[in-house]
Amino acid sequence: MLNFVKFQEISFLKTFIDRLYFNSQGVYFYSMDARESFLQYLSRAKVIVLKIGSAVITKDDEGLNYGVLSNIAYEVQRLFKSDKRVVIVSSGAIACGRAKLKFYKRPLSLSEKQALAACGQADLIRAYEEVFEQYALKVAQILLTSEDLSQRNRYLNARKTLHTLLTWGIIPVINENDTVATEEIRFSDNDILSALVTLALPADGLLILSDIDGLYTEDPRDNPQAERISAVEKVDETIFSMAGKKPGKLGRGGMYSKLLAGKMVTSSGIPMAILPGRTPLVLERLFSGEDIGTVFLPQERKLSMRKIWIKYYLKPEGKIYIDHGAENAILQTGKSLLLNGIISIEGTFPKGACVEIYGEANKLLGKGLTNYSSEDLLKFLSDKGRPDKEVIHRDNLVLLD
Ligand code: GLU
Repeated sequence: MLNFVKFQEISFLKTFIDRLYFNSQGVYFYSMDARESFLQYLSRAKVIVLKIGSAVITKDDEGLNYGVLSNIAYEVQRLFKSDKRVVIVSSGAIACGRAKLKFYKRPLSLSEKQALAACGQADLIRAYEEVFEQYALKVAQILLTSEDLSQRNRYLNARKTLHTLLTWGIIPVINENDTVATEEIRFSDNDILSALVTLALPADGLLILSDIDGLYTEDPRDNPQAERISAVEKVDETIFSMAGKKPGKLGRGGMYSKLLAGKMVTSSGIPMAILPGRTPLVLERLFSGEDIGTVFLPQERKLSMRKIWIKYYLKPEGKIYIDHGAENAILQTGKSLLLNGIISIEGTFPKGACVEIYGEANKLLGKGLTNYSSEDLLKFLSDKGRPDKEVIHRDNLVLLD
């Protein structure tokens, strides 16, 4: 009887677990249902961001791979016909510049990368124009720095331009404005840029075309036995533990930054996939239900657009250290941060700046917009008989996971 019950349990489990994966951090499973619901989200999508990595569209030191680019253009044109609009975020400027100038030195300094990107971006956009021309589709070039997305009026302008281009049926091709982006104002890589663009639009899906064919239980360059994960229901610590931190040879982002991008978009209710970008008809195969790449299911969106903006777009300009009581108040009861809970501050920042909030154990708790400059806060903190004040309003405060 016991055995019978066990058998029943197993067959019941089997109806929602299709595959178990193991790595050093634990066990992970997925169900085919996850892939099916991903496809449902994607089939309803009106605007899709397609991120294309350098290693997908360029050959080692040889410049652009027109075969792959033509395949991508064919697939995007098919999406257009099914009434979807596409925004491309493409890397490849540095790789194109390197091939154009036969500049094969490695590693490259920042100014060499910037100069190569300036040379290569022209080739890159010309190639997109050429491959889309055969389908009578036009492209537009947009170059962004992280400052463009962290300053509200520039962000709103970029968004408006993108929407106008999409209503005109033009394909925006976005890259980082490498020429002016210093280390401090760089997006960490184009995976993160594509996630920010997805959130800013907002788009209904992010598809990352990569030179690797999805997320594996471990970095397949370290362990050839690693298995591809078909679907991820939630990007959590177990999932992050599967990613190697090594970037690819040509691009800057590795699997880790793709997962960060995944966390950003899926926690805002948008699905994402990592796909083998050089595989012919990869998008068609994904849409037709083939088990290809790794798909990431969207979670229920918990943050308002304003909080998403604070969490992902704004670079912190200072730090605020708070005591246990204040930590409890903001974490447990969702209260605003008051002056009396502040122990100390670090950095020089103006009123309205984004600051990080640290708890007693120096643990990063969240980010928020301060109502006071660092100068004012220092004055208040040295005045023992001060009245209490609201330093960060709860609507301007976002807790990290
Ligand atoms: N913006 C760089 C380029 O076009 C690539 C950055 C990245 O790979 O993330 O070459």
